[in-house]
Amino acid sequence: MEHCPVCEKSVERTETPMDCALCGKRASPGRVCAEGHFVCDDCARLRDTLLAHATREGADRRNPVAILAGLMDEPDIPMHDPVHHILAPAALLAAYHRSGGAVNLSRGMTEVVRRGRRVPGGTCGFWGACGAAIGAGIFMSVITGTSPYSDSTWGLCNLATARCLEVMGALGGPRCCKRTSFLTVHTTALFVEEHLGVTMSLPEAIRCTHSSRNGECIKERCPFFGD
Ligand SMILES: [Zn+2]
Ligand SMILES: [Zn+2]
Repeated sequence: MEHCPVCEKSVERTETPMDCALCGKRASPGRVCAEGHFVCDDCARLRDTLLAHATREGADRRNPVAILAGLMDEPDIPMHDPVHHILAPAALLAAYHRSGGAVNLSRGMTEVVRRGRRVPGGTCGFWGACGAAIGAGIFMSVITGTSPYSDSTWGLCNLATARCLEVMGALGGPRCCKRTSFLTVHTTALFVEEHLGVTMSLPEAIRCTHSSRNGECIKERCPFFGD
């Protein structure tokens, strides 16, 4: 990260603890711009990784499932972790952008990280709304510039989350950040084609490679179980 993810001005390193503009936590070290936007090293590293996957060469960059699978294979991504609330919308944003969707990738990725960081772990079981599905709503809000005061796109954002929750709720639990993230990007890509006319590419089948790492894997009940 050489430029501020918020305002694009140049940044310098600081050891002074400050409130991160992305995760909201007081942290150090990190980088700060002339406007005072501080971004902690964890958030800067994550955003850099997301943008690296988004801007990589290859026909599969139009495929949010392929982008998501690549992100899940990064060595510091745990089996289950709230970071999936960011990975799902980030993969969608990258594929949408590469498929001709009108969005500023850099600014959009900043918003995906900033909003996704605020969705805590366990919302699937404790709030009745999986964080990856909320990520579909975050993605939809970012690409349509929606706020709580918007009219038609307000509905689209909530319908995107609802569509994902409907599909994953029907499958049942327990939680799996891989299963719900794959479901989210697949369901949302189809939703975007239907409502916004932007066609991302999708694989014929999704095969999860993480089952052996997941003690609660629902195996044959999961549409992506392949071992
Ligand atoms: Zn700034
Ligand atoms: Zn942070």
